[in-house]
Amino acid sequence: MKTIKIKTKADGKDDVKVLVIYTGGTLGMVYDAKMDNLVPFDFAQIPDNLPEMARLDFEISVLTFDKLLDSSNMNPETWVMLAKIIEENYANYDSFVILHGTDTMAYTASALSYLLENLHKPVIFTGAQLPIGVARTDAKENFITALEIASAQTNNRPIISEVCIYFNSVLLRGNRARKHESVQFNAFESENYPVLAEAGIKIEYNKPYLKHYDSEATLKVHQYLDENVVILKLFPGITEKVVRNILEIKGLRGVVLETFGSGNAPTVDWFLKLMKEFVEKGIIIFNVSQCNGGRVTQGRYQTSQYLQEIGVVSGADITTEAAITKLMFALGQSVDIQEVKKMLKHSIAGEIS
Ligand code: ASP
Repeated sequence: MKTIKIKTKADGKDDVKVLVIYTGGTLGMVYDAKMDNLVPFDFAQIPDNLPEMARLDFEISVLTFDKLLDSSNMNPETWVMLAKIIEENYANYDSFVILHGTDTMAYTASALSYLLENLHKPVIFTGAQLPIGVARTDAKENFITALEIASAQTNNRPIISEVCIYFNSVLLRGNRARKHESVQFNAFESENYPVLAEAGIKIEYNKPYLKHYDSEATLKVHQYLDENVVILKLFPGITEKVVRNILEIKGLRGVVLETFGSGNAPTVDWFLKLMKEFVEKGIIIFNVSQCNGGRVTQGRYQTSQYLQEIGVVSGADITTEAAITKLMFALGQSVDIQEVKKMLKHSIAGEIS
């Protein structure tokens, strides 16, 4: 991995230092005529496309992944690698901006929010819907404003001290965000948590909703994520064969069960028996709603009462992205089922309320 320093207006004295980690994604892509598709390009070319960076008054260094990734190829190993890069550079930088493809950005941001315990510096993810070389690109505004947010301080303290996604004028808590739009510029939303900041003429921070800054906090980076998990999305007509085959996957430890509405599932005998059988075998079932907004309330309807009784864990208002990564994280921390269930129910990094 190589790190380059970008020329800015910083004078090398008390300047804020931002480390940009370039992982890939559309933001840094160029059109390859031979292949007739978009391919990642070298970050060294970005200052040519973004001369505005020279006017910023903080230091910027850029660390580029050896192999740039379309975010569809992100995985837990890369999430841990990102967490370790932040750990290694934590003492030398005031904040971090991660350039990442939009497709799985919400998963990576969620995973990092758990892996980086006691974070007290900004980690801001951003990307773009259009490559930086295209005239109507959203990459410039997204990137420059993410840098501004990452460098923002009051009384020598960062305003943001958590993992966020900045996109199309809004700053969202990373583990509350999800990609909901693949064509328009407003790619991300956070239905169950207010926006943390809005960028207009000024950047207005939504102070009551920001994570509290803790000067005593010492960063602790976790490294274990258990991949023996699955997302099972219910649909009317799902068969016993399908559900059984999924639950019988060798080594499976946890399931995010995407249910209807406020956490409801079919009440047919075979489904209830299967759920009970596998919960008793020690599989953790985490109930998350297919709705973008609202919350799972097990027991509100008869169709979720039984799930509550047999020990399915309610995901309350968590997103699927935050839930699957949380399940990997919690299973990576403990082999004790009760302990894992306890972790799932409580907020680790503001992902659930
Ligand atoms: N496929 C791209 C990615 O997620 C899309 C993007 O960057 O917006 O890497």
